[in-house]
Parts: sequence; C-alpha cells; structure tokens
Amino acid sequence: MYQREIYAEAIARIDKRRQLARLTQEQHTDQIRQEFPEAAEIERQLHQTCFSVLQVSRDTDEASRKKRLEDIRKKTETADQMLRIILTENGYPTDYLDVKYTCGICNDSGFSNGIPCECLKREIAKVGAERMNANAMLTLCNFESFSLDYYADLPAEQFTAMQKIFTQCKTYAEQFSPNSPSIFMSGRTGLGKTHLSLAIANVVLEKGWSVIYDSASALIRKIEQEKFSRTPDAQTSDTLGMLLDCDLLIFDDFGTEFDTSFTKSVLYTLFNGRLSNGKPTIISTNLELKDLQERYGDRIVSRLIASCQNMLFYGSDIRFKKWKKQLNQT
Ligand SMILES: [Zn+2]
Repeated sequence: MYQREIYAEAIARIDKRRQLARLTQEQHTDQIRQEFPEAAEIERQLHQTCFSVLQVSRDTDEASRKKRLEDIRKKTETADQMLRIILTENGYPTDYLDVKYTCGICNDSGFSNGIPCECLKREIAKVGAERMNANAMLTLCNFESFSLDYYADLPAEQFTAMQKIFTQCKTYAEQFSPNSPSIFMSGRTGLGKTHLSLAIANVVLEKGWSVIYDSASALIRKIEQEKFSRTPDAQTSDTLGMLLDCDLLIFDDFGTEFDTSFTKSVLYTLFNGRLSNGKPTIISTNLELKDLQERYGDRIVSRLIASCQNMLFYGSDIRFKKWKKQLNQT
C-alpha cells in the first residue's frame, strides 16, 4: 500500500466532511428563509450591510468613517440577534444557521497555519489501519460470541479469574481512550486470548479509533519485506510507522516470529516507542515469562510486563472443546 494513497484517501474524507458541513448549512438557510419571511428579510439587510462596509471604507474623513462603521456593527449585531430569536422561538437551536465543522481547529480543511491538523493525522492513521486489517477475521470475534461455559469445568478459583478477565476486557473496550493502559495476555494456546483481543478491537474500531491487529510474525515479516525489498511498492509502505502511530495495537502471538537480531531491534523500537508515548498495546503470548526473557532479554520483557495490566488465561484448549461440541451436535 502506497503511503500517498493513504494520505489521499484521508484528505478525501476530510474534504467530504467540509462539503457536507457547508451543504447542511445551505439547506438550513434555505429552509429558514422559506419558513420565515422575516428571517429572509433580515438576511437581505445583513447582505446590504456588507455592501455598505465597502462604501464606508472609501470615506476619507476618519471620524465620519469610524462612526459609520460603528453604526454598521450595531445594525449587524441587532440583525443577528433577531435572527437567533426567530430560531429559538420556533424551536430551533441558536446555531442552526452556522456551518458546523467536525474539526473546529482547521474547519475541516486538514491544515491549520499551513501544518497538518491533528484531525488529518488521526484520519491517516485510521485509513492505514483499515487497509492493514482488511483480511482479518474480525467479524467473528466479539463479546457476544465469547462463552464462559467453556471454562465451567475449571477449578472455582480459575473460573473466577477467567470471569474477571472477561469483565476487564469488556470494560477496557467500553472505556477505551488513547491513554488507556497496555494489556499483556499470557497462557497456553487456544484459551481465548485472540478472541478477547479481537472483541476489544471491534468495540474500539466502532468508536472511531485506529486499531491494527495481526500476529507478531505477520507484522514483523511485513516490516522486514519493506526494509529489504527492492520493489518500489514495498519501499513506500511504512508498516512500522503505522504500528507506532495507531491508537491501539494488538500484537497477537508474540514469540512466534523468527528470532533474529532484526526482529529484536524492531520489537525494541516498537514497544519502546509506544510505551514512551503512552500508547496502548495488547500483547498476547503462549510463551512463559522465562522463555520470553531468554529470547528477548530482560530489557524488553521486564519493561513490558511492568507497564502492562497482566492477564493470565486458564483452561484447556477452547478450540478443541468447540470442535467436540460441534461433533456432538451433528
Ligand atoms: Zn482539523
């Protein structure tokens, strides 16, 4: 995916917002003009006043010019007040005739004082994330499709722990903000770590935040291809940049990627970058803590664990239980 395509798409979305805001304002104005002839009359006067300002500016006598401008200002203010009275008396909000932009900083132009506005940066991150997630199985995993029944034969203490994890994940998703804490999920394979992280992704995406999720090995492979590939297509993508920028990164199956010095340096850049900027990441792993420390060294692993909310998953392989249940039903 070309970075410039992502940029162009983000700009196009913001343009659309601006057009929609202006169109809505025009529709509101037309509607009010038709409904209330007196409002139309006030508008005509306001228009006339703008014209007078031009004439007054040609007045060479400074004192008279100041006085005439002050008169115009008062007239405009009164007309504006009358217009708002008509609106409120008829049950419309006072700002019904204003243009309502989504972003008040750049008025949906994407730029403020010549530099890209925060809203444009957010949109770029969002488009990038959407493109990366296009192939994933997001729709299947949500909180409704997660069943605690599969954990029912666990010892009471472990079942309670799983119940708690489920509730924590749900609350996390509902209260998500770009300053939310990171989560470290560990436990054997097939215990629901991926399911719950994708369920969180679903809710967070719906709220309009940018989320990227994939397995550690797939993400590292992409970064590696971009770094070493000679094709222009790969070179213009910036997966690492997108992983650093997105509001929530879900880094699934940490520990399954190839253990090379390149991988280590990418992981260090990634985790360190996100932790330093206070950006939340959900990391899941099937490996035990000591194995992770052995592979990546204490430097990365300790910092990760210390800065995350830790969730230890219990149970026997849920996928196996689901499969058995399906067999029994047929
Ligand atoms: Zn903006």
